[in-house]
Amino acid sequence: MASLPTIRFKENSYKPLQHANEVLMITREDLRQLADFECRANEYAISFYFQPGVPKDKSHREEGIQAKELVRKTIQELQQNGRSAKAIQDLERILRIAEALHGNEGFAKVVFSCAERNLWREFDVPPVQLSTRLFVNRRFHLKPLAALFSEYPKLWVALVDRQSARVLEVEFGEIRQQMSITNPIPRHGRSDGFGGYDGGHAQRHKEDEVRRHYRELAEFLKNGDQRRLFDAVVLGCNDVNWPELQAQLHPDVAKKALGHFSGEIAAMPDERAVSEALRVAQATLRKHHSSLLGETLDEARAHRRGVTGLRRVLRALELGEIDTLLMSQDYSARAVECTNCRHLDSHLVAYCPVCGHATRELEDVCEVLVPIAVRNNLGLVLLPRDETIDKVGNIAALLRFRADRNTNQLRAAS
Ligand SMILES: [Zn+2]
Repeated sequence: MASLPTIRFKENSYKPLQHANEVLMITREDLRQLADFECRANEYAISFYFQPGVPKDKSHREEGIQAKELVRKTIQELQQNGRSAKAIQDLERILRIAEALHGNEGFAKVVFSCAERNLWREFDVPPVQLSTRLFVNRRFHLKPLAALFSEYPKLWVALVDRQSARVLEVEFGEIRQQMSITNPIPRHGRSDGFGGYDGGHAQRHKEDEVRRHYRELAEFLKNGDQRRLFDAVVLGCNDVNWPELQAQLHPDVAKKALGHFSGEIAAMPDERAVSEALRVAQATLRKHHSSLLGETLDEARAHRRGVTGLRRVLRALELGEIDTLLMSQDYSARAVECTNCRHLDSHLVAYCPVCGHATRELEDVCEVLVPIAVRNNLGLVLLPRDETIDKVGNIAALLRFRADRNTNQLRAAS
């Protein structure tokens, strides 16, 4: 089965963005802190992604050579600029790391640094759509990491039998218990009553208690969903209990349920339950993402809770309508950003249509979109490129709501 990827936090010799605690894995909070970062004038945010091959293998040498050339070239460019001695020091340090990595146990290396702000963060991440890249920009390049979070969503695992339930949260190998309840079934035996009538009554009473128990769990999941505490849920229960349990799930929770696995969960260790859940999750996730795209496109066609194409996505973003952003993995597009009000525009205009200030060109709008998605806790789904998403410009969004627009506006927008 696919094992849970662990992202290890290797080294932290400079001050991290906020917390100085020893973190071993990258968390959403790390990603959020990186998403918050933005350079001031004459500062450089360096993002380095490096996927080393195994030692002695040809691709390792090629990747290594490619990485070193990439870094050297960037150093030369910065030297010509003349005002970035600190950034060059960081790049030289990155170069030494790239030279020293041999295999790295199959992990990819990711470094974020901004020397002017005394920031250096280094992670080992499982290889997910990673190629060796180096970015020197105003913000950190987070899309590959965001893809990782998309592929391994914050998962709740709800383990249920007829009288106990526990919910575990799983995020990159870390398991945290969210709740644990026991609702013992009352010991009503047939001897409690007189004959068949009371016996049946006791049985019904028992079933009511079990249903109440399921409902308590369902309520907990519903609240968790409303507070956006998880992206997906997998349930573990005995197959015979599944239909009844499933019937109690709130529709919104049911939508996020990636499936269930069978087992005697009371005796099942957390680790075992989590690996079962991940197996179910990964099998379902791909299907789930593509149906999410289908739903978005249907909604967009009906001018309801969906938009497609960069222009309309940016507009929905500014209106605060977006629930989930969907794009192809390799999506990239030029855009401009207002230096004053931060308006984003897919038309490469020199002045902001909202406030009139000068704009700044973005080589890739994802440099801004991904941090916004991370900061605002929006869903972010990266899909393999195919005909369906290609047809709509490789970017779309499922909306939480659609701000009131009159019919003319709708026509104009389409
Ligand atoms: Zn503006």
